[in-house]
Amino acid sequence: MFVYSLPMTTRFRGITVREGLLVEGPAGWGDFCPFPEYDDAESRAWYDAAHEAAFDGWPAPVRSSVPVNAIVPAVPPAVAHAMVRASGCGTAKVKVADAPGSLPEDLARVEAVRDALGPGGHVRVDANARWTVEEAVTAIRALDRAAGGLQYVEQPCASLEDLAAVRRRVDVRIAADESIRRAEDPLRVAVAGAADVAVLKCAPLGGVRRALEVAQACGLPCVVSSALESGVGLAAEIALAGALPSLEFACGLGTGALLAADVVDDPQAPVDGFLTVPTRAPEPTRRHEVPADAARTRWWLDRLERIRPAAQA
Ligand SMILES: [Mg+2]
Repeated sequence: MFVYSLPMTTRFRGITVREGLLVEGPAGWGDFCPFPEYDDAESRAWYDAAHEAAFDGWPAPVRSSVPVNAIVPAVPPAVAHAMVRASGCGTAKVKVADAPGSLPEDLARVEAVRDALGPGGHVRVDANARWTVEEAVTAIRALDRAAGGLQYVEQPCASLEDLAAVRRRVDVRIAADESIRRAEDPLRVAVAGAADVAVLKCAPLGGVRRALEVAQACGLPCVVSSALESGVGLAAEIALAGALPSLEFACGLGTGALLAADVVDDPQAPVDGFLTVPTRAPEPTRRHEVPADAARTRWWLDRLERIRPAAQA
């Protein structure tokens, strides 16, 4: 067992270091890394995912590589253009609604991204639940025009009712991300008619197998996204993308670049917009270069002790 602390290149979700606990078992290494503010009940699924990687391994993949999307934060159009060109990806996810009144800038950014991708590329936007229904309807129609067609809009509003209301009024597909945090959520999203696409992460859903069951149960096309894991945890997310029976859209798995250091030698980075599907997590050979301090190590070991089933201790 090993507790790591990774400095990040960019502040993200309000954090500047990413911490987690590596567990080792007969199948390899697993990454137990619920965000610090998550309670024990919510963290249990994250332990199940780490335990699966370390003790059971993952189901066999059905594809050897998965397409990933470029990530475009709220940057000026010229910067967005250059980022997309440099990524080599055929799909770009553009952050919008970052500040009140940002629509004119969002439109310019999306236009620049379409120009960088060309007509064959895919542009999607992510509002991270920042809009009201009315704001969403207005913004989505305008963004769809500026982008020359949007692939989908991720989480335009916060509640399921609002997602469903927006979905009835626009022609663009709606994807649920923040609405899906527990294994039962995707089904609720599908039943409520709130989305056309589900964004899945295997860590909060309790592992690759559990996430595959969830994907099947909800019946929506799925996109796999990372939870900003180390190279060990990211491998599990890529394994999920590799094992989904069908994968229509590029995945949000190119997040390794947000970490300034990693526990593995060669963190997976997209090549020409694709990641290779692993059969097990990479060996965390650099873990001793990024140890958490004694107090944080204690904190993580206590957390593990509280949530780990007695039979597995
Ligand atoms: Mg999102």
